[in-house]
Amino acid sequence: MAKSLDHLKELLGVVSDLGSAAAVLGWDQQTYMPPGGAGSRAMQLATLSRLAHTKFVSKELGEALELAKAEAEGMDPESDEFCLVRKTDRDYQKEVKVPSEWVGEFSRVTALAHQDWEKARAESNFSLFEPRLEKIVSLRREYASFFAPYDHVYDPLLDDFEPGMKAADVKSVFDTLRPRLIALVQAIAERGKPIDDAPLHQSFDEKKQWDFGVEVAKAIGYDFNRGRQDKAAHPFTTGFGTGDIRITTRFDPEFLNTALFGTMHEAGHAMYEQGVDPKLDRTPLATGTSLGMHESQSRMWENLVGRSKEFWSATFPRLQEFFPDQLGETDLGDFYRMINKVERSLIRVEADEATYDLHIMLRFELEISLMDGSLAVKDLPHAWNKKSEEFLGITPPDDADGVLQDIHWSGGMIGYFPTYSLGNLIAAQLWNKINDDIPELEKKIAKAEFGDLLAWLQKNIHRHGAKYEPLDLLKRATGQSLDAEPYLQYLERKFGEIYEL
Ligand code: ZN
Repeated sequence: MAKSLDHLKELLGVVSDLGSAAAVLGWDQQTYMPPGGAGSRAMQLATLSRLAHTKFVSKELGEALELAKAEAEGMDPESDEFCLVRKTDRDYQKEVKVPSEWVGEFSRVTALAHQDWEKARAESNFSLFEPRLEKIVSLRREYASFFAPYDHVYDPLLDDFEPGMKAADVKSVFDTLRPRLIALVQAIAERGKPIDDAPLHQSFDEKKQWDFGVEVAKAIGYDFNRGRQDKAAHPFTTGFGTGDIRITTRFDPEFLNTALFGTMHEAGHAMYEQGVDPKLDRTPLATGTSLGMHESQSRMWENLVGRSKEFWSATFPRLQEFFPDQLGETDLGDFYRMINKVERSLIRVEADEATYDLHIMLRFELEISLMDGSLAVKDLPHAWNKKSEEFLGITPPDDADGVLQDIHWSGGMIGYFPTYSLGNLIAAQLWNKINDDIPELEKKIAKAEFGDLLAWLQKNIHRHGAKYEPLDLLKRATGQSLDAEPYLQYLERKFGEIYEL
């Protein structure tokens, strides 16, 4: 009888319930809550998060963990129990190192920083945000110091989002990625064959956009019996146990892509969470293993499936039925090119596949310099603009469309950005393996059959939840380490064909 393990699970179940309850409140906050609820909701969320944290780092849980560790010794290292103890121990050892004064100060500063950032962005004036960002950078350095010794001061930050990964790993794949992406985007620009995507910019009825999005989400495998979709200003996926994983979307009445690809993206995140083995519910294992692995799933469905020729050869006629006036006369091949239009643009969240990672690398390099002290916060806007010119060939006209565009730094989330690109890399590596294992995959997608693809992902990725760290899971699924080559080849092949390079 694994008595200590059972006791540990009981305690973790309580922590998980508190987290889920907070997540329900968070979901409501961003979907249905009236503005007047903001003040008390912030208190409720803070109380629940504090309770969950206190319970997690409690003496009782620490003792139960020690006993469970002894009990787990000699167990099969692939068993749920062994992985649960290992993951809990890893999280616990991290959380107990962070003093509660630091946590309080960090949440105070980031709450204020958020307000300052909004104002600074609205007025396009970095200096309004600068003092607060300086404080955030110094708090993040202090955070890293709790985990000394480390190879790089960035490592402890990255580890929170991408367990087990180091700045050097990211740097190495980005060094491979950067020159070839810059060359690809350059070649597309020099080709001088811009794509006219005017048909995507017309009036599209919101109700019809909603219905089409739901149809696509269902078709690819998002389970509405264990989920639902609502509207939100900034789309996200959230869940409260594997039986209730929700997505949100937003609409642009004048642009088709926003809701369509946004819905596929969030459904990709949600299918990952829906695919986690229900046996892991109410434990720290009942979720995706990292942000990068999560992004590999969302971007696979959004881009590798959703922006492919095969997908639209099956689905475009249906889209035309929804929007006969707007797209009835549009040719399938033209539509495929429109949704894959490459453009040097300022804003990351609107970037196409070819330029997207350049936006990420710019941020990663600046974060590294901020953290190692080689770049002062006051010099950040200048450094941003210089890198933008170097990577993307454009200089932002102002700070709002440059250094102030993303919310992440105001929330203290330094170390987060690389996970977006890691997701792209991982998606391409998985995609190659999936195509080896399912030789007919493209044909199936062209018939709108997604069952085999989803089953592969469930078997090799989803069901494991957070049992394995991301690089370990990637190795188990593909036999490979992290590698930029498959992703580069995918982009060069795809855009080489579209732009006839
Ligand atoms: Zn995402």
